[in-house]
Amino acid sequence: MIVGAGPAGMEAARVAGERGHEVIVLEAAAQAGGQLLLTSQSPRRQEMISIIDWRMAECERLGVEFRFNTWAEAADVTTLKPDAVIIATGGYPHTEILEAGNELVVSAWDILSGDVKPKGKVLLFDDAGDHAAMQAAEVIADSGAELEVMTPDRAFAPEVMAMNLVPYMRAMQQKDVTFTVTFRLESVQKEGDGLVARVGSDYGGVEKYRHVDQVVINHGTRPLDDIYFDLKGTSSNAGEVVYEDLIVGTPQTKVNNPDGAFQLFRIGDAVSSRNTHAAIYDALRLVKDI
Ligand SMILES: Cc1cc2nc3c(=O)[nH]c(=O)nc-3n(C[C@H](O)[C@H](O)[C@H](O)COP(=O)(O)OP(=O)(O)OC[C@H]3O[C@@H](n4cnc5c(N)ncnc54)[C@H](O)[C@@H]3O)c2cc1C
Repeated sequence: MIVGAGPAGMEAARVAGERGHEVIVLEAAAQAGGQLLLTSQSPRRQEMISIIDWRMAECERLGVEFRFNTWAEAADVTTLKPDAVIIATGGYPHTEILEAGNELVVSAWDILSGDVKPKGKVLLFDDAGDHAAMQAAEVIADSGAELEVMTPDRAFAPEVMAMNLVPYMRAMQQKDVTFTVTFRLESVQKEGDGLVARVGSDYGGVEKYRHVDQVVINHGTRPLDDIYFDLKGTSSNAGEVVYEDLIVGTPQTKVNNPDGAFQLFRIGDAVSSRNTHAAIYDALRLVKDI
């Protein structure tokens, strides 16, 4: 039983199917993909969804059952009496990082999904340094908004490799975009119809202000792990992965709770904010021995 059909859940489903198990995937959304659905919103990155499409085709071939539009809670899992449960529920944007004004900001995901339109003068604070920030920045720049991308790091977008940065820069340097390094957004408050952002520095002794219409924060994800913790007590292994076994590639056999009815594991961004590579690798190296 797999909860979540992002890259982690899809790889887990594929490998479990290959191994001949009966596999059911519960997914809250209407389709598979997780964060890759957001990634592929950018025309240049549309093909990223092939990571999901290929796994979906394999799962169909292997007879994996998908239940979409299904937000799973612990009871939904246990009623199906699984032998093994894999939580691949990913994460949601973590934007609550300010001293004050967290309720006034939007996330890079809000911009990418189109739920929030870019507005006037925009400050995008990015301390994850990843593609989500650059993709959101490009959408904001394309809208005609005036954009400042700010990072507390000494270089922006460190997680975006050089060749990938080229098209972002080609798209954005033509537009009204500035990049500011080594400054940290500290708080946001309302000012008339707009916002005033207080900016400091990890190097100390700085207080600056930005008067903007919109503040966007990109700070990675926070695990959606409630269901994992709700299931821990009734699982046989109490949700534990024995890393020594994982590393040498032998099955997980630890029993912490002899009354537990199923093994429970957690993979991908449901463990911590990482990337597609980590999500797929978590799934593959665990499920190949189940
Ligand atoms: C815009 C953007 C660009 C990115 N670019 C890259 C990149 O270039 N390279 C890279 O390696 N990584 C990239 N990433 C990060 C990568 O997409 C994530 O790390 C990866 O998707 C995590 O996979 P996951 O399967 O663990 O979680 P997710 O992709 O978050 O999938 C989790 C799934 O679980 C479902 N779910 C959650 N809770 C429940 C529940 N209770 N019941 C049922 N279903 C549930 C969700 O609906 C979702 O479909 C990017 C992310 C974004 C947002």
